[in-house]
Amino acid sequence: MKIKEIYDTMVYGPAPESANPVHEWLDAHDSTFQLFIDGTWKAPGSGVYFDSMNPSNKKGLAKIAEANEQDVNDAVEAAGKALPGWVAMGGHQRARYLYAIARQIQKYSRLFAVLESMDNGKPIRETRDIDIPLVARHFYYHAGWAQLMETELKDYKEIGVIGQIIPWNFPLLMLSWKIAPALAMGNTVVLKPAEFTSLTALLFAEICQQAGLPKGVVNIITGAGATGAALVNHPGVQKIAFTGSTEVGKIIRRAIAGSGKKVSLELGGKSPFIVFEDADLDSVVEGVVDAIWFNQGQVCCAGSRLLVEESVAETLYAKLKIRMEQLIVGNPLDKCIDIGAIVDKVQVKTIDELVKQGVAEGCAMWQPARDFPTEGCFYPPTLFTNVSPSATIAQEEIFGPVLVAMSFRSHKEAVALANNTRYGLACSLWTENINLALDIAPQVKAGTVWINCTNMFDAASGFGGYRESGFGREGGKEGLYEYAKPKVEDTFSDKPVLTAKSKAGAAVSANNHHPDIDRTSKMYIGGKQARPDGGYSMPIKNSAGAYIGEVSEGNRKDLRNAVEAAHASSAWSGMTGHARAQVLYYIAENLAARREEFVQRLVQMTNQNKSDALLEVEKSIERIFTYAAYADKYDGMAHSTIQRNVTLAMPEAIGVLAIICPDESPLLGFISTVMPALAMGNQVVVIPSETAPFSATDFYQVLDTSDVPAGAVNIVTGKKDELAAELAKHDNVDGIWYFGNKEGSKKVEYLSTDNMKRSWVNYGKYRNWLDPAQGEGEVFLRHATQIKNIWIPYGA
Ligand code: NDP
Repeated sequence: MKIKEIYDTMVYGPAPESANPVHEWLDAHDSTFQLFIDGTWKAPGSGVYFDSMNPSNKKGLAKIAEANEQDVNDAVEAAGKALPGWVAMGGHQRARYLYAIARQIQKYSRLFAVLESMDNGKPIRETRDIDIPLVARHFYYHAGWAQLMETELKDYKEIGVIGQIIPWNFPLLMLSWKIAPALAMGNTVVLKPAEFTSLTALLFAEICQQAGLPKGVVNIITGAGATGAALVNHPGVQKIAFTGSTEVGKIIRRAIAGSGKKVSLELGGKSPFIVFEDADLDSVVEGVVDAIWFNQGQVCCAGSRLLVEESVAETLYAKLKIRMEQLIVGNPLDKCIDIGAIVDKVQVKTIDELVKQGVAEGCAMWQPARDFPTEGCFYPPTLFTNVSPSATIAQEEIFGPVLVAMSFRSHKEAVALANNTRYGLACSLWTENINLALDIAPQVKAGTVWINCTNMFDAASGFGGYRESGFGREGGKEGLYEYAKPKVEDTFSDKPVLTAKSKAGAAVSANNHHPDIDRTSKMYIGGKQARPDGGYSMPIKNSAGAYIGEVSEGNRKDLRNAVEAAHASSAWSGMTGHARAQVLYYIAENLAARREEFVQRLVQMTNQNKSDALLEVEKSIERIFTYAAYADKYDGMAHSTIQRNVTLAMPEAIGVLAIICPDESPLLGFISTVMPALAMGNQVVVIPSETAPFSATDFYQVLDTSDVPAGAVNIVTGKKDELAAELAKHDNVDGIWYFGNKEGSKKVEYLSTDNMKRSWVNYGKYRNWLDPAQGEGEVFLRHATQIKNIWIPYGA
């Protein structure tokens, strides 16, 4: 026999990992698990237990307690009770606990890995080499942040009791992504694992006991969607962190709208895997294997849409098919298999239905000829070609081992196809030309971009989505802000903080300052003054009730025009920070030149005395300087990830940002919200103070003379809450800030859910805009940006 023949005919024998340690652990618990509440195990109030099974053989593994509302209540109460002690012990003591948990995870790593494989169906190779090491890494990394919180985040504090809901695709890993940063920042948690995969979370609870974690700091409540919903709606929870489907993410967003609960959502994806013609196609093939057959494709950031430059498409498909023939599907505990079991028969059915739909819609389906198991929940690796961008399988998240391929002819088309999705979680780019890769990376709307690599994760790098893939980041320094809030928030007022010292009706008579020739202020859209579409205007009175003029009453059509103008203005977002800084300085200079005029306006609108008005104008000028300064300084990080990588965490503008300004401090409130958004490169649609809009409408003239590109700032006047609701609903608005009352805040959060735009509202808590601690700073910049992590591996 020739060596080549030996290679060609060689097959791998099975190399199974023993399941015995897991069976022993299950036996020790009589295969029945209770709820972990307040550091002890409690039987569920409902008395109900559900089955957890091994998807590779459909055999039962254990009975798991189903938590009802009372149990959720008990868990939240326990977490609330544990909170003060956990906060008071300080960062160093918390670091010790997190370190102890990390050590325990390493000690029991094989048990965790085998248990995870049996419960979820994922290959032992992955749980052993990827999931569990990353879990330990997460706790080590965040032990570090607990230690450093008091120096590195000294203006921040814990949020409180955190409700965390995780999916079944990376059960223990998602748990660690949620629990480690939450505990590090001084919060206590109640976590609900997915119904299909509760077991490693329960083993984790035992680890917490062994590590001596104070009671109630971590509570694990098992159950189904209803248990999750009870946690979401519990008034004792201050934040919800969720990973799962976009559909449930939206339910959660709406359920807590206006409650003041913070939320981070890591949702679905349909991530592009873009191959340019100069890519190393053999590396690409291995990349595709990792992108879509890792974890059976049940990965939110799976590279499920293969976009290939037309000149190499057929070559790549042929290579892929050869590789797919080699993929071994089988027993997850076998170290030689590539693809394990799908989590449950329900998921197999979902995948199969979508595949059938792809075929019905005329896409070409291909599967390898080799045998694969028929007993458990398995699905063969599948490739679709001849797919149109609008096909269901090109748009819907399949969450299975199904790759959908399309070709492109130009770089522009590649970007257009990549962004032709409602999601924005990740993107993988393959080219030997680093200039091309770094040109494309910022153009793709996604929270993570991997260059010549894929599915790379590390605790030091943030992970999370754009658009309907959700918001918030997990990992990295950026992830900490999901679990810490600025201390200054505690000082906000329940009533608007009026800058005007003078009493209503005092001081100035309106007529003294009324313009000689009556004019109605127009709106400002696309760099031009615009009349309102409806042809209506609104009378504006000063705080003494005297008529001072008319302002245009904007409607839905005006907003549509403003949003369109904002989108059309790419000049602003394309400018460098330095160039934007110069424009902002110029704005400040021009405002300073018209200082007297603005003082008069403020006095006219608010009846404040002249020196207070002058202070507001001066503060406004100062604030513009602040954001001019930040424009080229709020500039991301290079993360220390464990792989040989440069991982760039780049803050990117949100895009088109709607800003609903506070009514109080009409000029300073406008400046304090619009300028940080502009400094970061957003195009804005602004609704100025409803009661005192003239300082904003006068501001056009400052903008016009300060080199602000047309469309970068659009101002629509009118009824604030009506306009806010329209903007919240608008599908082409990427983010919305609202500074107003409680009811308006709720409405904005609720209505912005459809396209999952980023929202930032004040829940009827008011800032003193004159006070820099409350009215300016990095928190504004953070809300004006989202972090994109770009991974660039190195090594010759
Ligand atoms: P879900 O979004 O339904 O589940 C995620 C978690 O939320 C689970 O713990 C689930 O509980 C819980 N949950 C379900 N309904 C509610 C609710 N109303 N309120 C609060 N919590 C709730 O995902 P599925 O498991 O049903 O998977 C469906 C699809 O979602 C998949 O096919 C895939 O496309 C996508 N998905 C995406 C993931 C991602 O990482 N982006 C992860 C998992 C799924 P329980 O498990 O008990 O139902």
